[in-house]
Amino acid sequence: MQLEQAIKKAYALRQLITHYNYQYYVLDTPSVMDYEYDQLMRELIDIETEFPETINSNSPTQRVGVSPVIKFQEVKHLLPMLSLANAFNEEELHSFNTRIKQELCVDTIEFSGETKFDGLAVNVLYENGLLITAATRGDGSLGEDVTHNVRTIQQVPLSLIGENIPLSLEVRGEVVMTHKGFAILNNRQRDKGEKVFANPRNAAAGSLRQLDSRVTAERQLSFFAYGIGDYNGNVDLTNHTNILRQLKRWGLPVSTETKRLNNIDECLSYYAKIRTMRSELAHDIDGVVFKVNEIAQQRQLGFVSRAPRWAIAYKFPPLEKMTQLLDIEVQVGRTGALTPVARLLPVKVAGVMITNATLHNFDEIKRKDVRIGDWVYVRRAGDVIPEIVAVIKERRLDVSEFIMPDVCPACGADVVCQDGETVYRCIGGLICSAQKIQAIIHFASRKAMNIDGLGDKLIIQLNESGLINTVADLYLLSQEQLSDLNRMGTKSAKNLITAINKSKNTTLERFVYALGIREVGEATARTIAARYKSIKSIEQATSKELVTIPDIGPITAFNINHFFQQKYNLQIIQSLITAGINWEIKRDTMSLAFGGMVFVLTGSLLIMTRDEAKRRLMLLGGKVTEKVSKKTNYVIYGKNPGSKYDIAIKLGIKTLNEESFMKMIEKEKVEP
Ligand code: NAD
Repeated sequence: MQLEQAIKKAYALRQLITHYNYQYYVLDTPSVMDYEYDQLMRELIDIETEFPETINSNSPTQRVGVSPVIKFQEVKHLLPMLSLANAFNEEELHSFNTRIKQELCVDTIEFSGETKFDGLAVNVLYENGLLITAATRGDGSLGEDVTHNVRTIQQVPLSLIGENIPLSLEVRGEVVMTHKGFAILNNRQRDKGEKVFANPRNAAAGSLRQLDSRVTAERQLSFFAYGIGDYNGNVDLTNHTNILRQLKRWGLPVSTETKRLNNIDECLSYYAKIRTMRSELAHDIDGVVFKVNEIAQQRQLGFVSRAPRWAIAYKFPPLEKMTQLLDIEVQVGRTGALTPVARLLPVKVAGVMITNATLHNFDEIKRKDVRIGDWVYVRRAGDVIPEIVAVIKERRLDVSEFIMPDVCPACGADVVCQDGETVYRCIGGLICSAQKIQAIIHFASRKAMNIDGLGDKLIIQLNESGLINTVADLYLLSQEQLSDLNRMGTKSAKNLITAINKSKNTTLERFVYALGIREVGEATARTIAARYKSIKSIEQATSKELVTIPDIGPITAFNINHFFQQKYNLQIIQSLITAGINWEIKRDTMSLAFGGMVFVLTGSLLIMTRDEAKRRLMLLGGKVTEKVSKKTNYVIYGKNPGSKYDIAIKLGIKTLNEESFMKMIEKEKVEP
């Protein structure tokens, strides 16, 4: 780069960084991520290092923060408050170590390792043990007077405790906001229609830089002391570790993660350890800080314009990034809940490429006022699913509002959201591909259809191999199909088919329960079965009618009614009945057309399956037995009847061929 070009570039960078500083330090509303900011700063430092003639005292590389704003009184720090030099990788940390070792003419250096709190620096002045002033860092020499606000932070002692209280002491520390406090604050801000904060740091800064201390007091702020400025006392503080220990004795909160480190390798291990714990801490940290431990060595190294030469911040990759929300898609969970998922312009956050973020539910979208096309802050902490923290309204241009679909994207059934619920749900319980596995597991469970040997894993296997898609398909399975499955022997296949067939004889209440209608547990299923006695009547029951039944509230009534309005659900029920599912009618079967009559079936029926014939007879109050006896009223025979037909003739029992049987039941107009 030529000098002329360097001057131009440095000027442009200074303008931009100064603008970002204003947004960050004065407005507490950054418009670029710290990472981007740091890169710009790096670029400027590099130019100024290569072309020292471009440096001027107004350059942000030569200054700390910004001057106090007018709304606050100014406080002059007794000793300047500086920033920190940064390292973004191991190499940079090593070159820091090499540089200072050379200057100190030593082989190894002892460090104090500390977490780098991501908050706002404050300087708290104690005189004779009493808190006199508290100020922000400001431009390093003049800070903003926030004494009234710092006093509201419970951890900051209003008077020091213990022995050897110094005549005067400047405590340097950081005000941070916990994650919990941040979530509470942003929710409250949204509810009030007020500004939401991009991250806990900005929230902490915004909360501390208030004129009304009642506002600060409402917010969950914490404080950690990490050093001292001016000190006039008689305890000999010869190294940084001693300083932190002494601050603790005087009643100041100090991080428990602080550690004395014997050399740079220990610093690297410390960095790795703290990085893994990062997401478990109650508040944000954005790196670790290494400080030369011996005060004598610190003095020898001194300062450059904006930072001490004896300390370095080794920063972590950022947890938040800005990106664009490309679309909002809807996913259907196993219980039918619809979850909006944000599709993002891919962005690397904390080392992982992020393309999606959860939006939880529709209310969350409304509350955060997220629109398709918006620029947003995404945050990824630990293994937590990435989430959208806030929308950058300033960058909003061409956006569209998200509309929750009224039909399920997986199956096309209706989507409902009941009063008092935030979750939208698909009502197509039995057909919905997203819910079907869960629906089949429930259907086969002990208290429902009680299909012995049909466990969750087998259901998943059957579904994945394409053998079952809905609960009705269970009754179409053959022993051969099952034997072909992995890990399924002939015997197990046979047993399963027997169990499936056995489940066909059930009760109406079990069947209703097995359908998996939301909010319809065993007790409700029993109540409905007792009241309506047939599936047809239940299908036709209106919400208004259902709600009159004791124990059925409006939501359950709505769920039942809505379930039976879905044509897919009705189709499945019909298939199940056709497959032979039947239940005993507990009511007065004697009053029915075939009440008290005993039937025996023999031979191959051609018009309907034997199970269907059985079911029809039972619905009309008839009883179907296997053996012919004197108690048998009718023997119904199909093609190639067996010995049962002969016995009937012998005993003089009435026999009916299939056509006559059909006429007999059609006359009764038996409906399932
Ligand atoms: P810094 O945050 O990188 O480091 C210095 C600060 O670290 C100190 O002032 C102190 O407040 C804090 N700190 C936390 N734990 C500490 C510990 N244990 N010991 C000592 N200090 C500790 O530097 P800075 O000057 O405060 O701010 C510059 C940084 O702020 C930039 O690197 C960038 O990340 C961010 N920033 C962002 C924007 C933006 O627009 N996004 C604008 C300005 C600044």
